[in-house]
Amino acid sequence: MLRSRQHGPIVIYILGRSLLGRSWYHAAAYWVDGLLIDSGCAHTARELVQALDDRPVFQVVNTHAHEDHIGANRLLQDERGARILAHPLALPTLADPRGRQPLHPYRRFFWGYPDPSSGEPVPEVIETDCYRFHVIHTPGHCLDHICLYESDKGWLFSGDAYIGGQDRAMRADYDIAAMIASLELLARLDAAYLFPGSGHVRQNPRPALERKIAYLRQLGERIYTLHQRGLTPQQIRCRLLGPELPIAYLTLGHFSGLNLVRAYLHSYREISSAQPALPETTI
Ligand SMILES: [Zn+2]
Repeated sequence: MLRSRQHGPIVIYILGRSLLGRSWYHAAAYWVDGLLIDSGCAHTARELVQALDDRPVFQVVNTHAHEDHIGANRLLQDERGARILAHPLALPTLADPRGRQPLHPYRRFFWGYPDPSSGEPVPEVIETDCYRFHVIHTPGHCLDHICLYESDKGWLFSGDAYIGGQDRAMRADYDIAAMIASLELLARLDAAYLFPGSGHVRQNPRPALERKIAYLRQLGERIYTLHQRGLTPQQIRCRLLGPELPIAYLTLGHFSGLNLVRAYLHSYREISSAQPALPETTI
């Protein structure tokens, strides 16, 4: 399933596999001035290429190598001649998605394995005819995550670095300390608009980013306190997050409250002292 809408010169594509007449989990791709930011999942790759129609796609930037962000890379490379750009750590996964990123059954079902594509290391600044996008490394959601910032317009394309709401489930491999540091870096940009991986565009996103940072920090403090008292991750999950959400069962425990607690316990020592690094580019 694909829906699109326009935000000024930016075209927003919302992509997701349909089931029982609705799309359950979706990801966004953004087109602006010949640049495509993320390319959805394998199941919607052909739909996206068709929807792009006669819009030129000179460059595709993947915010990270998760399968719901790189799905149409190969088609766009082969059929539209697009260059594929991503963080150097993402390139091996782009080249060999099956070998480097084995997918759980739910991920195969909703998004599928992308075809391999040949990517290049993303430069510090991406230029289109009309815009300049600064590339900012924002690890946490995963190590190879980047965001793009057009400082004249105040556009911040944030991939999965910012996910709205108050998390009650996560994957165990998220690095919470790095996630908070990256969110602090993004909040300091004071962007005019946030274009996240969900497609829910936010105007003046700084307060939402700061609320998210505060929530993640407070949750970490509560988890750490209970951990020091000797509670197990399961007991901490029960106490602070309540019963597991349906998504925990759907993902066979991969995306769960218990894994959220585990992710915190992996990195809790760094959370209170996390100092975000300044981006290498001058913004
Ligand atoms: Zn992701």
